Amino acid sequence: LEEVSKIYKSGDRSLTVLDKISFSIEAGSTMSIVGPSGSGKTTLLGLCAGLDRSTSGKVELHETRLDGLSEDQLAAVRNQYVGFIFQNFQLLPTLTALENVMVPLELRGEKNIRPRALDLLDKVGLAERSHHYPTQLSGGEQQRVSLARAFSNRPQILFADEPTGNLDAETSEKVVKLLFDLNREAGTTLVVVTHDLDLAAKTQRIIKIKGGKIISDTQTQ
Ligand code: ATP
Repeated sequence: LEEVSKIYKSGDRSLTVLDKISFSIEAGSTMSIVGPSGSGKTTLLGLCAGLDRSTSGKVELHETRLDGLSEDQLAAVRNQYVGFIFQNFQLLPTLTALENVMVPLELRGEKNIRPRALDLLDKVGLAERSHHYPTQLSGGEQQRVSLARAFSNRPQILFADEPTGNLDAETSEKVVKLLFDLNREAGTTLVVVTHDLDLAAKTQRIIKIKGGKIISDTQTQ
């Protein structure tokens, strides 16, 4: 990101959520973004992932400049490189766990996707729940389905917004292990927004934002 700002306008009022933020993320590394509630962490993650557009400044992902791309082009970049774990899971309610995990694979036009999706659900310990709908799953189970979905297109970079936010200690530990295993085994770059300072401390770098600016950028290891 170079000099990236995000300003929300409503009527004649405007709110500067991100104010000329610049940083880059090293491929294969792990990083967390921390800061008070409302400081713009989710907004920043969405901009990095091409889910949202900046008001000004330059966002580049895998040598592709995102600002200026059409919605279809952005979706294609996301499909190819990005996995995203949403704060509120965002599973499709009319699809089963298995079908939710199959969606990114279908979008990529891949073949023989059912066994792959089942294998991913097995990895997150949910093989037996594959035919359940999101409303029939607990919060932690839904979070693990959303993890399996985010892993399914073998992303080069995974963005996770509060991945442990709604989980009990034991499930949270499992989820964190899955994230770091993916980084170690597949070299997936991991960018986590979190209030959990223990999780942040496990990443190689912590960026803290406040008032729309980066107030610290620390290497932990
Ligand atoms: P939390 O830790 O509580 O999840 P956050 O740091 O992730 O917060 P954001 O969700 O990025 O914060 O929101 C930053 C600010 O931008 C907040 O003040 C929020 O109200 C505002 N905001 C977010 N989305 C919009 C929108 N679509 N329109 C207007 N304001 C918005």
